[in-house]
Amino acid sequence: MIIILMGAPGVGKGTQSLALSEKLRIPHIAVGDILRKHIKEETDIGKEVGSIMKQGLLVSDKTMFEIINQRIHDDDCKNGFILDGFPRTISQADGFERLLTDVGRRITVVFNIESNYKILLDRIKGRIVCKNCGATYHNVYHKPQLDGYCDICEGIITKRKDDTEEIFNSRIEEYNQQTKPLIGFYQQRGILINIDSNDVKENITERLLKHLGANI
Ligand code: AMP
Repeated sequence: MIIILMGAPGVGKGTQSLALSEKLRIPHIAVGDILRKHIKEETDIGKEVGSIMKQGLLVSDKTMFEIINQRIHDDDCKNGFILDGFPRTISQADGFERLLTDVGRRITVVFNIESNYKILLDRIKGRIVCKNCGATYHNVYHKPQLDGYCDICEGIITKRKDDTEEIFNSRIEEYNQQTKPLIGFYQQRGILINIDSNDVKENITERLLKHLGANI
């Protein structure tokens, strides 16, 4: 099963990917987290993408495919995987489709998670994340039980450097220009399902799982 979660920054792709990953027992591939790890470890990729990510711009397709191609061929992806943050452009979607076709696989479903600007900005401004497992919290609406530590893995909770209003605005612009066209791309292929994100996260997970039941 290959699932893609798409939607604007802050819409809850990470939260839902983690929940689906747990329920379906397939890995959650958060490309943003992989890129941040490269930056932290000061790899060649990390050095290349640091300033691009700081501005909320998109990393080159060449680098993205290097990461994706390697990760989806890992052993734990044999039965499927959930993609969060990839593809983000038509050219990435095209390339990914070719990559899958070459190995006789195809995308099961693309969930397009929808929300509006004001709600997203509010989420992003208060978003805090676990450095270790990527679980997402909010410093007003969803605080961890122990201040500063993840409820799931006890990892340290931190604020992402790009979760400011200014960078959010450029990420939204990138999203509107580059990623939104994917809605039509996947609609044409008959695999897109729109999901309204203005609900509690457990209900959204339930709706996603229900759709998957119908698609498996
Ligand atoms: P995310 O954690 O998914 O919000 O991604 C954080 C940042 O990583 C983005 O603002 C981009 O700079 C970069 N990034 C993540 N996914 C992609 C992608 N598919 N293509 C290009 N850049 C990406």
